Order: sequence, then C-alpha cells, then structure tokens
Amino acid sequence: MPRTLIAGNWKMNGLRADGQALAWAIAEKARAMPVSGPELLVCPPATLIDIIVEAVADSSVVVGGQDCHAAQSGAHTGDIAAPMLADLGCRYVIVGHSERRTDHGETSAVVRGKAEAALAAGLTAIVCIGETLAERDAGRTLEVIKTQLAGSLPKGATAANAVVAYEPVWAIGTGRTATAAQVAEVHTLIRHELKGRAGDPDMVRILYGGSVKPSNAAELVAVENVDGALVGGASLVAEDFAAIVEAAG
Ligand code: PEP
Repeated sequence: MPRTLIAGNWKMNGLRADGQALAWAIAEKARAMPVSGPELLVCPPATLIDIIVEAVADSSVVVGGQDCHAAQSGAHTGDIAAPMLADLGCRYVIVGHSERRTDHGETSAVVRGKAEAALAAGLTAIVCIGETLAERDAGRTLEVIKTQLAGSLPKGATAANAVVAYEPVWAIGTGRTATAAQVAEVHTLIRHELKGRAGDPDMVRILYGGSVKPSNAAELVAVENVDGALVGGASLVAEDFAAIVEAAG
C-alpha cells in the first residue's frame, strides 16, 4: 500500500505572519502524530515558501509549490521555475490544478510540460485532473479523466516522482463532495490507466480533492484506490487539517 499523503493547497491566501502561524500550528500537530501516519504536505503561495520551509523544519511536514513553469529559466515574467522551488526546499509541486486550467487556459500538454520540469528538478509532481459539472452531467466523466490523465502525466512518471489528484471541478471550494461511489469509479479507472503509463503503477498515489473536511475525510480516504487527499479550504485551519490527517491515518 502506498503511504497516505494529505496535501494542503493554501491557494492565494496568507501574508507572512498568517502563513507562519499556520505552519507553526501544523508542525506542532504533526509532532504529536505517530511517525507511521500519513505524510503531511503544505503548498503555500510562492511568497511564503521560504518562511514556511523554516517554520516546519523541525517537523515531518514537507513543503510544495502550487505551480511551476515548464522552462528551467528565462524570459517568463512572473513565473517560477521548478529548480527555484527545489532550491527553496520544496519537495512537491502541484500542476494542472483546475483553477490554473481555467484561469490561465492551461491545456494538458502545458501541464505535462510543467510536470516534466518538476521531475527534472527532482520534485514530485502532483498532477491534477477532473471533470466539470457539465461534463459529468453529459456522462463524459470517465472519457475526460482518461484524456486528461494521458495528456498530463509526465514521461518518466513513477510512484516515486508523481502523484495524481482527482479533483472534480464541481466539488472544489463548493462544499459539494463526490460520493464514495463516484470517487471509487474514477479512482479505479485512474489506477487502471496508470498501468503502462507510470512505473510501479499500483504504488502511484491517487489523491481525492474537492471539499474534503474533517467530517468526510475518513469515508473518502477509505475508498479503494484513494491514497490521500488534496485539501483546499480546510487546510487553512490547523485543527481541521490535523483532524483530516487523523481521520485518514
Ligand atoms: C483544492 O483547491 O485543490 C481543493 C480541493 O479545494 P477545496 O478543498 O476547498 O474544495
């Protein structure tokens, strides 16, 4: 069984003092948890990465970025390269989050380029995929997931350098959560599709994301082929994030 991963996506939230306080609180909770429990990851805004790496340094919490550019360096104003994240102490980077696909028009080909840059920099790429409500209502969920996975997964993906996050777009930040049956159907498909596309496919972690909170985390993480969660809103409250970790453990 892969080790469960609970990842917090802070999105565009937090000034330095808020981020530091949240990271300290999460690190303190982590120190009280069994070392055999889930892996804890926080993905703060890029402006906070430096101080968050320092804030969690004496805990098991690891830090990731929320996005990276496909290039190593160059004329890309406002962007951040994967080696820069690695240089700051990041171990992971989220790529292809639906908010980036929507807000920045990122296609699966763009996402794959970012994921490949992440791997080249020694980071683990968390590759997000998920259907919109219109696609689900049209009965196209499995087709969309298959296409996005095939198009976004980096060449050379293995259980050691890639994580897939299934995040139905209609469940992100809406309070609507996919049912256990809906999650099971999609995660089973992803596991199947990973065969031949990733090294050690049974060990590639597949996270569920979309309004995960303390009250539903245990049920969602207990679903077959769910190896953890990508948590947005609830990761901004240390008690809730810790409760999700405990429920998943
Ligand atoms: C996310 O941002 O990846 C996410 C799942 O957000 P939320 O938990 O708030 O739905």
